[in-house]
Amino acid sequence: MAQRHPTLDLSPKVSDEIRKTTCYMCACRCGIDVHLKDGRVAYIEGNRDHPVNKGVLCAKGSAGIMQVNAPSRLRAPLRRTGPRGSGQFEEITWEEALQTATDWMAPLRAKAPEKLAFFTGRDQSQSLTSYWAQQFGTPNYAAHGGFCSVNMAVAGITTMGGAFWEFGQPDWERTKLLLLFGVAEDHDSNPIKMGIGRLKARGAKVIGINPVRSGYNAVADDWFGITPGTDGLLILSLVHCLLKAGKIDLPYLAQFTNAPVLVNGDESSPDHGLFLRDDAGKPLVLDRKTRQPVPFDTQGVTPDLAHTYRRAGITHRPVFQHLAERYLSPDYAPEQVAATCGIPAPRIRALAAELARTAFDEAIEIAQPWTDFRGQTHATMTGRPVAMHAMRGISAHSNGFQTARALHLLQILLGTVETPGGFRFKPPYPKPMEAHPRPHASATPGQPLKGPHLGFPQGPEDLALDENGHPQRIDKAFTWENPLSAHGLMHMVIANAHAGDPYRIDTLFLYMANMAWNSSMGTGRVTQMLTDTDPETGDYVIPRIIYSDAYSSEMVAYADLILPDTTYLERHDCISLLDRPISEAEAAADAIRWPVIQPDRDVRGFQSVLIDLGARLDLPGFVTEDGQPKYADYADYITTHQRRPGIGPLMGFRGEGQSTGRGDPNPDQLDRYIAAGGFHTHHIPESAQFYKPWNRAYQDWAVALGLYDSPQPYLFNLWLEPLRKFQRAAEGHGPHQPPDHLRDRIKATMDPLPLWYEPFEEAAIDTEAYPLHALTQRPMAMYHSWGTQNAWLRQVHGENPLYLPTDLWEQHGFTQGDWARVTSPHGTITVPVAHMAALNPSTVWTWNAIGKRKGAWALAPKAPEATRGFLLNHLIHELLPPRGDGHRWANSDPVTGQAAWFDLRVRIEKTAPPKEAQPGFPPISSPVPKGPDALTWKTTP
Ligand code: SF4
Repeated sequence: MAQRHPTLDLSPKVSDEIRKTTCYMCACRCGIDVHLKDGRVAYIEGNRDHPVNKGVLCAKGSAGIMQVNAPSRLRAPLRRTGPRGSGQFEEITWEEALQTATDWMAPLRAKAPEKLAFFTGRDQSQSLTSYWAQQFGTPNYAAHGGFCSVNMAVAGITTMGGAFWEFGQPDWERTKLLLLFGVAEDHDSNPIKMGIGRLKARGAKVIGINPVRSGYNAVADDWFGITPGTDGLLILSLVHCLLKAGKIDLPYLAQFTNAPVLVNGDESSPDHGLFLRDDAGKPLVLDRKTRQPVPFDTQGVTPDLAHTYRRAGITHRPVFQHLAERYLSPDYAPEQVAATCGIPAPRIRALAAELARTAFDEAIEIAQPWTDFRGQTHATMTGRPVAMHAMRGISAHSNGFQTARALHLLQILLGTVETPGGFRFKPPYPKPMEAHPRPHASATPGQPLKGPHLGFPQGPEDLALDENGHPQRIDKAFTWENPLSAHGLMHMVIANAHAGDPYRIDTLFLYMANMAWNSSMGTGRVTQMLTDTDPETGDYVIPRIIYSDAYSSEMVAYADLILPDTTYLERHDCISLLDRPISEAEAAADAIRWPVIQPDRDVRGFQSVLIDLGARLDLPGFVTEDGQPKYADYADYITTHQRRPGIGPLMGFRGEGQSTGRGDPNPDQLDRYIAAGGFHTHHIPESAQFYKPWNRAYQDWAVALGLYDSPQPYLFNLWLEPLRKFQRAAEGHGPHQPPDHLRDRIKATMDPLPLWYEPFEEAAIDTEAYPLHALTQRPMAMYHSWGTQNAWLRQVHGENPLYLPTDLWEQHGFTQGDWARVTSPHGTITVPVAHMAALNPSTVWTWNAIGKRKGAWALAPKAPEATRGFLLNHLIHELLPPRGDGHRWANSDPVTGQAAWFDLRVRIEKTAPPKEAQPGFPPISSPVPKGPDALTWKTTP
């Protein structure tokens, strides 16, 4: 019998216009096509032409439609009316709001610019915000990197001139073995998922090294469930095995790293551990042909790894000898480290053998001639098809900097950085540490800062200390406590401001930083600090707080003045080579956002607001010579601002519209970007696509594009000399001396060669009382708190149990639906638990930032996020437990100041289910109305 099939329209027309822009549902910056129907967002899909995602869209990206319709969107500027923390506000006009902010900040700039502390969260306009803060003249500026993964950034930039993050990528086309350390989901979200798919399609192997088998690890071919905080030890054991087997790339080390650089080996010399240099300051290597020391970049030199050099009674040894001596030590043998790492010795040996086999037995050659910086021409490019990627899991520990350094050492010993099949930089990287600025922190009333806030100290003389040795910054970045804190220490700002240590501030100005909730260590204490008053005056200890956010987050309730931001589809943004572009290993690329819809509320893009404030405050750089506003708004700034002559925020369509990189401002630039799909790409010539730090063709290409003003080839730093300078100071040498209580720690941790030490919190507490490690992971379907208010994404993760490994689960007799009391040295929470087998046996974990406070985010009071969701933040402290020496030591990495979130230790007990997850916080009033129960509209007939 014939069947009648209904006629279905499989591609109904959902929109009457498509506008191409850039996603901002996470930090990955995929291209999106926003379908509009009657002026409303009807549908979001991936832009198939976009270099980042090539049409791929994740769950977060498609849920952007719920983000721009979220009931929690702030609707107008707000002035606090109730006590701080109550959430009681009145709506005011923009003129009132901007005048209030100006009235608060102008006197500070005139008398004491440091009394303004301006810190931003995960925004993508740091080139503007840092420029603004510099013009204001306050030293107190940073973004959130200090509590995210600054260890990774600083280790990468100081060791190899670039970091993982989204600033580099595995060679997805050629890699045969990918190791993922401490990463479950990442900033480079879609590209990594797509890349892993490509690896698997051609039979390459992926190995996950992570205490938790979630995210990328769940699809890895092999998994090492390492004990948290021990990655550095495992990596150095791999180094030990490779050195013992002679499986290292000696030609690569000799040519492209400081392995042959001569180091002063005389312990009695004031220069012990420092490089032998020529009169111009260039490090010297021994030429294999002449056995004479010459500058490392001498044309035609073949650096020698084997011999020492004696001058003026002092023996100078190549870095390579120091390195081999250290890591060949039996201390790093697999049998020695296995128990600490929780990985059996045979598995460590097998992993080392697999690395060696893939790197050397499966080496690849590309028939592509190239010329290096010493003038030597190479007929081919040799590839070692091993790639690595790492992120916060290894970084957010108090030994995270040296662990990330160890990982780069492993990559470099195998010759897998900037070679085919390995790890590749994306423009504007690579860039040597010395090409970055040094920090500037001396405030002068009424004047801009003399240079950028953040940078890379080359030695003790670059620390941000005043003439009395006191910290110049409120977060104490760039001090002896954390000399290379290149991203600042946002997690210390509120505690230090509350304590008046090193001084009191007047106004705390925050953007997109939920410091009253999931971005703080010890949420209860931090909200207490934000609301504490001076007993004598009754004024708040932190007198004024200005906050800008698009949503009614927990932090809103703790501010005095709210500057409501737009959503990402309602404003201009610039994904810039001056900041964090969307480049690929084979091309420079940048992108824009533009208002594809107009706000239906009285809100303004924060960047435009900042530019307006800059003009009202008469900040140089934001006013013309006759005192008029220099920029109409952020779109105008993006188009016309020049950081250096001819160099602006966007590289494409400069001058008459034909120039890329360098060129005069072009008033049509944004229109040209919009017409081109929201991005611009500039390809690297084939002869310049690998060996970038040493490749003449790449260096010339980068100069032409405006990334550098002259070629700047450099060596990878296996031996990191600036660290040695800090050590030497701690040993008593030089005019700049650390406080005595920090000397031993500096000597022990600022080693010029990577090392591993026990995480500080572990060393400070009785680990038998707190036998478990406690971690969080970023959900692939959510980007921290951005997603946990999103109606679609909440259906994926509406609550977050604490996952327990099998033995622990059985030992405590847990069953599905049970709850546990979890106690750290700093606090207790009571939360639901669940069983997970693929988990390190001494580790418990949960998803990040799902728990919400009642009254925030326009969620219903009974929302699962507010009743069963929870944060581990309540268990964490920005200081280590007291040690009885009179000092409270920071819970941070001693080199970079990175918050050591993952050093957390806990114990658990089974408990009767409470009514709600504990601790419970009193609800806050919401400045936005509760959302509707249903949010629907029709886009098809
Ligand atoms: S990975 Fe991030 S930027 Fe890309 S579509 Fe998903 S949420 Fe958007």
